[in-house]
Amino acid sequence: MTMKYVFGPVPSRRLGLSLGVDLIPSKTCSFDCLYCEVGRTTELTLTPLNYAPYAEVVREVKERLQTCRPDVITIAGSGEPTLYADLEKVIDGIEEITEIDVALLTNGSLFWREEIVRRVLHADIILPTLSSAFEDTYRKIHRPPAELHLEKVIDGLKKLRAMYHGRIYLETIFLAGMNDTDEEIAALKSVIDAINPDKIQLNTVVRPPADIRAKCLDMKRLKEIKSFFGPKAEIVAGAPVGREKKGWESAAEDFLEMVRRRPLTAADMARLSNMGLQDAQSVIKGLLMKGMIKKREHSGDIFYVVGEENVQ
Ligand code: SF4
Repeated sequence: MTMKYVFGPVPSRRLGLSLGVDLIPSKTCSFDCLYCEVGRTTELTLTPLNYAPYAEVVREVKERLQTCRPDVITIAGSGEPTLYADLEKVIDGIEEITEIDVALLTNGSLFWREEIVRRVLHADIILPTLSSAFEDTYRKIHRPPAELHLEKVIDGLKKLRAMYHGRIYLETIFLAGMNDTDEEIAALKSVIDAINPDKIQLNTVVRPPADIRAKCLDMKRLKEIKSFFGPKAEIVAGAPVGREKKGWESAAEDFLEMVRRRPLTAADMARLSNMGLQDAQSVIKGLLMKGMIKKREHSGDIFYVVGEENVQ
């Protein structure tokens, strides 16, 4: 059955097999990142709202957990989840029905507001993003509202670290020619050291971005940055890790459900569905013929995105 708020599980290099919870309408966000996989932000806002009935979200998670056993339940999706006003109720509701860790994938832009930090204190893992220590680079990459200055965001991440006792995995997205100079990396390291996350996850543009100016950084440079950042740093760019899948709906239905949220390659599809590449390609062929998905090329790879026939 297609669910409204829950998707996957999806294999994730950052977290393992992850059951996704999407609380925000596409595409509502406090940023409009060049590299966004979901597309351009149509509602740029700093105001949290109740976009979904929290009890219904928790009910869907409970129902989905009857047919799968993910490593983690990740609040993420088509926009910025800290813009969901009942976030604390969703986190607490999920914690009540399962022992599985709850992770929050956030752009980290709103933690300067203490009430937003308070809403996320019961999550097991928080994964915010910080990609530059310079205001102009931050603006170029994330295109935030005029009043959302980088200093505020960094203060918020420090506030989060001070108030929150769970794990923080801070992600940095590197874009070739934008935030990959020695000066950028040295400044970023000193800010990240002050925030003191548990892990630093280094990423780049691995799927078709919202803006073609977002270019992938090569692995050689990512490895140099990793060694400069020290033992907490790990590279998470690359294909997700495949896992066994049992009790899932048909491969085609799963694939459609997930390409509504992010572009996938045929290899992703094969891993997600625990099937051979050839079988995955034949499912893809059928979906292409029906116009339910279409191809997009990025960095020499073919990704599949939702087709006009399948937009909801
Ligand atoms: S990448 Fe995340 S933070 Fe950036 S625009 Fe997309 S949803 Fe918002």
